[in-house]
Amino acid sequence: MTTEQQTLARLEAVLGPGRVLTGPAIPPAAHRDWSPERGGTPLALVAPRDTAEVSAVLRLCHADGIGVVPQGGRTGLAGGAVPGEGTVLLSLAAMNRIEDIDTDAGLMVVEAGCILQALQEAAAAAGWSLQLDLGARGSAQIGGNIATNAGGNRVIRYGMTRDQVLGLEVVLADGTVLSMMNRMPKNNAALDLKPLFIGSEGALGVVTRAVLRLRPGVAGANAALVALPGFDAAVKLLAHAQRRLSGRITAFELMWPDYYDAVLREAGKRAPLPPGSALYALVEMQGADPDADAAPFGAMLETAMEGGLILDAALARSQREVDDFWALRDGVAEVNARWSPVINFDVSVPLTRIGACVEEIRAALSASYPALQCAFFGHAGDSNLHLLAGPIDPIDPTGHGIESLVYGIIRAFGGSISAEHGIGLHKKPWLSHSRNAEELALLRRLKTLMDPKGILNPGKVL
Ligand SMILES: Cc1cc2nc3c(=O)[nH]c(=O)nc-3n(C[C@H](O)[C@H](O)[C@H](O)COP(=O)(O)OP(=O)(O)OC[C@H]3O[C@@H](n4cnc5c(N)ncnc54)[C@H](O)[C@@H]3O)c2cc1C
Repeated sequence: MTTEQQTLARLEAVLGPGRVLTGPAIPPAAHRDWSPERGGTPLALVAPRDTAEVSAVLRLCHADGIGVVPQGGRTGLAGGAVPGEGTVLLSLAAMNRIEDIDTDAGLMVVEAGCILQALQEAAAAAGWSLQLDLGARGSAQIGGNIATNAGGNRVIRYGMTRDQVLGLEVVLADGTVLSMMNRMPKNNAALDLKPLFIGSEGALGVVTRAVLRLRPGVAGANAALVALPGFDAAVKLLAHAQRRLSGRITAFELMWPDYYDAVLREAGKRAPLPPGSALYALVEMQGADPDADAAPFGAMLETAMEGGLILDAALARSQREVDDFWALRDGVAEVNARWSPVINFDVSVPLTRIGACVEEIRAALSASYPALQCAFFGHAGDSNLHLLAGPIDPIDPTGHGIESLVYGIIRAFGGSISAEHGIGLHKKPWLSHSRNAEELALLRRLKTLMDPKGILNPGKVL
């Protein structure tokens, strides 16, 4: 028997007959995520039912030197969950229990395979709110959100996934179970180890359980779509709104005219404001009493208009209209499909430099690739900028030339090549644009220390 065959036999002995899928029994969907990356041929797929089984799988693979790729909902956009050649795919899908919701302390204890939307709904039913939200909520798992330190729509108010995690359980490469299921917002008993794993994209350990912080429930939102004279006005409007509303803004999404036009044209969305403005912003404030919040929210918009920061505004009068505004922002999926194949850039740039950065990227792309369509948008309140560029075929089929140009400008502006999607396989060639040599050296030493045989998500991130 080869080492691989021995590993398969021993995995089946641990997990039970029929629970180690190989060859055509591995579902096609397990071979890819939402990125354009195509991985290798996996050795097997296993779906442990609890932490002890995850530990047993890792112990075995560690002993045999077989690579392991943790898989959540496979909605990742960086290729972190695609199979490596000859690796064992470790799906967390069967670990989807909500163990506890503490309605007094405002926290929930969950397994890593829980779908984000299921957790949002369970928190809401308990009168609380899990303030992590993204377009892939119906498929992404909380373990995947933690492993990518996902951002999403409400970061400006509540922070990234890291800020929602109180406690964590992780299985290390050799099968050691590291339990850090802390339930307290304050715990300074020496250095906190949890952040090491949040955003580590499955390269340092497998997340199996978590304690999540819940926030007071919200009853609805006040939202407006506004037309702005330019980027400087957007920065001033954000500061003005935060001051007037005591930091209660929950979203500040910018859409440049190329995005606004594309989403109206390609995704067939309704236009709450006419096209033709220099910039559009979706401004939202969530709260326990949207009716009471309507007056301060409206007053904030009015003073902004008087000060020339806003040229035109559409105010949502119902939750349905709030949802309509968000449909403009979420229409990116349809534009993506119409322009396919595309590159979906996720970068961040210091807030006040975003406008100039967009202009520089747009000019450079149009000079080098005049036929390329571009749409700029993003969670600008979090310094996060997205760019959809396509179709890249036949202009630049690998996308490498376009990426090189964009990431070069991002580096020059002091930005990051990954705001929220991670590095995975796709952005690995560009990591040194955003991390210096000393940081990379320390990251590699950490990886060697925690995974000396390099079995966890081999070839990804670093
Ligand atoms: C329509 C759409 C909208 C999106 N919007 C956003 C957004 O607004 N903000 C944002 O940040 N992202 C967004 N994403 C990207 C994606 O949804 C997130 O990265 C999400 O957190 C991935 O979760 P997942 O369960 O699908 O992970 P996967 O894709 O399965 O895995 C992602 C990475 O995490 C690792 N991993 C997964 N589970 C575990 C685990 N239990 N332990 C250790 N490692 C693990 C994998 O190996 C891989 O490296 C979007 C994606 C889509 C398709």
